[in-house]
This record gives sequence, C-alpha cells and structure tokens, in this order.
Amino acid sequence: TIGMLCLDDKGDIAGACTTSGLAYKMNGRIGDSPIIGAGLYLDNEIGGAVATGMGEVIMKSVGSFLIVELMRQGKSPQEACEIAVQRIIKQNPNYKDFQAAFIALSKNGEIGSYCIHEGFSYVKFQDRKNTNTPSKSYL
Ligand code: ASP
Repeated sequence: TIGMLCLDDKGDIAGACTTSGLAYKMNGRIGDSPIIGAGLYLDNEIGGAVATGMGEVIMKSVGSFLIVELMRQGKSPQEACEIAVQRIIKQNPNYKDFQAAFIALSKNGEIGSYCIHEGFSYVKFQDRKNTNTPSKSYL
C-alpha cells in the first residue's frame, strides 16, 4: 500500500491510498485500500487516517473511520491508531499471522502510527526534508 496524508499551509487535509493488492489474491478481490472508511478516511475538521496490511480485517474494523472518530472525541492520533489496532487484535485471535498498520494525522499536524508487527515505518516530509520514523508496534 502507498498511503499519504497531507496538511497544507492553509490547514486543509488531503489523503490518498493505493495498493497492488495482496500477493496471490483471489481474482476480483478489492481489499481495503479503495474502500472509504477502511483504507482511508479524512475529515477536514479533524484529520485523516490510512491503513496498510490485511485488507479483510481492516475492512471489518472500518479502521480509518474509527481513528478519525476517536480523534474527534479527543484522542491523539497515536492513541487512536493504537485503539484501532487493539480492536483488530481483539477481533482476530490469529493476529500474529498478519500485519495491520495505520498512520493518522490531525488537523494540528500531530502524527500517530501503530501496527501489529514491528518493521513498518512512515516518512514525514516537512520543510523540504524527509524523516523516516519507525512505527510503534504491538509485537
Ligand atoms: N491493504 C492491502 C489489501 O489488503 C494490501 C496492502 O497493500 O497492504 O489489499
């Protein structure tokens, strides 16, 4: 997945999510990436979230929507990402068998990310500089 969240100098949020899909996927499988609320969700009043990993579990959790709604209720992007991943873990006893990861960006520029397995990272581009940050993880 390539997931992007952007905040411009006027404070407007934009985002995108694209995937080549899972390896050996069934013909016709769509995955979470093109499903608004699952792979991507934005609300210009609050912020945005994007997902990568096992699309089926991300869709069932409606994880990106969940994260933005948690931020609306006052959670930080980091807290919101952790709650969404924890929910996926709770719903899926086989969680060690797949990855699920989220990045979130709030309207005030705060970033959060969380995933099941370590090894996921994201890049922040600001002031013409890239910073690669490893995500916090459950395992
Ligand atoms: N989330 C994608 C899918 O399930 C896979 C990926 O690119 O991470 O289709």
